[in-house]
Amino acid sequence: MINLNRISFSYNQRQVLAELSLTIDKGEIIAVLGASGSGKSTLLNICAGLLRPETGDIVGISGTAPSTALVFQDYALFPNLSVLENLKFVSSDMSAIEEWVNRLKLETELNKKPNQLSGGQKQRVAVARAMLCQPELLLMDEPFSNLDTAHRASLRLSLRQVLKEQGQSALMVTHDLEDAFSLADKIAVLDKGKILQISSPQDLYKHPNNETIMQLSGPTTHFSVGGENYYCRPEHLSLTERDNRTTVKVTGCQFSGVFFKIFYQQAEQRGYFYHPELIQSGELTIGIKTENLLQF
Ligand code: ADP
Ligand code: MG
Repeated sequence: MINLNRISFSYNQRQVLAELSLTIDKGEIIAVLGASGSGKSTLLNICAGLLRPETGDIVGISGTAPSTALVFQDYALFPNLSVLENLKFVSSDMSAIEEWVNRLKLETELNKKPNQLSGGQKQRVAVARAMLCQPELLLMDEPFSNLDTAHRASLRLSLRQVLKEQGQSALMVTHDLEDAFSLADKIAVLDKGKILQISSPQDLYKHPNNETIMQLSGPTTHFSVGGENYYCRPEHLSLTERDNRTTVKVTGCQFSGVFFKIFYQQAEQRGYFYHPELIQSGELTIGIKTENLLQF
């Protein structure tokens, strides 16, 4: 278990982290989710020992700071060294290098320089290099942000598999909800220097503790029932749902691939829901299960 205890940090008197605390269990993958500028990279740099916190400390199993390895957002590979040389830089154990090369499918890339690799390959080299350091805590800064969407999904899956096979504790920071949902065991929402909520991805999505967390953790819309205003996830509203049925006026429609986003007005509330077919105007009756209506 690794504990981040009441960590504070400021740049030029401007506080970025305010007594932030977080626990990472052995083998657990935690994603810190926060908007751009919320202090995610600062937190990772403190964990990596690159910045010193004003208050607080990080304590690993031994009772002192855990060993860490950081996968930087831009991977930070040595550009003049080949893949193999980049890996040898952190480890002289050839059998360990071979193992990670196989595990991350880098066999055919060993003699290439970083500029001859795709984004996904560079990321895999950076992960292999970090894992060769055998860190107590693996740190990853937006590990998928430089990758195209086609490769992202499969890389997320394979990275999660590798970390789980190793029982590797990991702390990833990201502003991307899908990255957090698909890789993490738990998501910690960072806002105004503190962790506002830490939950499994599904719990966070279903039971956000306040409006800020609801907005950060997924699409959010508004719906009124019996004169009361609620928050909800748009996919929970539908024409076929029998509970809490209410008539709304359609104000617009937007095609977004799998479905249409149907925008509506309902007294003073505005909201939207998803529907497989185009509806541009008129009045509709939609419903939602009571358990999916949220108030803060
Ligand atoms: P994130 O990674 O969540 O985007 P950062 O940790 O990089 O956020 O930055 C948090 C805040 O601190 C931002 O407002 C950023 O502008 C500011 N900041 C980051 N690095 C420095 C620095 N070296 N000097 C001054 N301000 C900084
Ligand atoms: Mg950052």
